Amino acid sequence: MDTLYLIIPCYNEEEVLPETSRQLKAKMLLLMEKRKISADSRIVFVNDGSKDKTWELIEALHKEDPIFQGVKLSRNKGHQNALLAGLMTVKKYCDMTISLDADLQDDINAIDEMIEKYYEGCDIVYGVRSTRDTDTVFKRKTAEGYYKVMRFLGADIVYNHADYRLMSRRALDGLESFEEVNLFLRGIVPMIGYKSDKVYYARKERFAGESKYPLKKMLAFAWEGLTSLSVKPIRMIMTIGSLIFLVSIIMLIYSVVRYATGATTVGWTSTVVSIWAIGGLQLLAIGIIGEYIGKVYLETKRRPKFIVEKYLCGEAREKHDKCDKDSFKNKQECTTEMD
Ligand code: UDP
Ligand code: MG
Repeated sequence: MDTLYLIIPCYNEEEVLPETSRQLKAKMLLLMEKRKISADSRIVFVNDGSKDKTWELIEALHKEDPIFQGVKLSRNKGHQNALLAGLMTVKKYCDMTISLDADLQDDINAIDEMIEKYYEGCDIVYGVRSTRDTDTVFKRKTAEGYYKVMRFLGADIVYNHADYRLMSRRALDGLESFEEVNLFLRGIVPMIGYKSDKVYYARKERFAGESKYPLKKMLAFAWEGLTSLSVKPIRMIMTIGSLIFLVSIIMLIYSVVRYATGATTVGWTSTVVSIWAIGGLQLLAIGIIGEYIGKVYLETKRRPKFIVEKYLCGEAREKHDKCDKDSFKNKQECTTEMD
């Protein structure tokens, strides 16, 4: 039996945490009973710099039952970084992880099937939404369109898969070796390789609280994903640029011919229109190229993707981790049993 850790990023989720923790705990106990996962499996909430009582709730849960653990980030770093922080913190203690949202929009009954596939030898199992009935038409259409655009641009992402997935320890080691700062997990995970599979589930409604992804954040996230995974937009600019250059040569020949035959027109409109068109296009092109240069700038800085302030994982292990750090000093204490 292998050890499973559930990773749940939480940003201002005090409204959903009590119910989420109850349901997840029941699920874990059932899985333990069925001997699918070992008894030292855990549920880890990552507090992404919440402004409400989320962390206090996590602390209370941990006190009440050690099956709950908490990772506290030093500040809000966004869903992707919070997820990565959780995965990297627990990596060394488990055989597999499953990441899911705090609002239980991802059907937790898909977990059984994911674990099944893990035992069949998969290192990555993607949770894929079979329906998006609960999303608004707008969100559904834009999201589906986005997946298509991404694929067209050459990014290898799994259609209708968000961040509900199982990853083995080996896959997490692979993920760790991707050092990019511009993080878009669902684009990077398929690059890890290994045997993978999909599990389908119906996406539910958020049962309390509101989405932490307003349209503005969603657009920023989409743009981030696109530009960190594909260089096609830059190539497209080149294509458009050359096409326009070609058109201008044709125009030149055309006007020379017209001049030679003595049929010159005033041509004010076409001049003004083309100035604006070319000017706009140039600004757009510079903007897109600037975006990539900005990315390079951030990557060269190698800023940390997250900083963990605290890991609530039981005293024995805290001691063990501390020993890990200064193992020269107190070798004796390091033999503590882990919980
Ligand atoms: N989240 C986070 N940091 C943020 C924003 C969101 O950790 O800055 C978490 C949030 O708590 C939730 C998950 O990311 O567990 C998905 O967010 P949400 O359900 O609001 O997004 P939606 O389902 O509306 O796309
Ligand atoms: Mg949600």
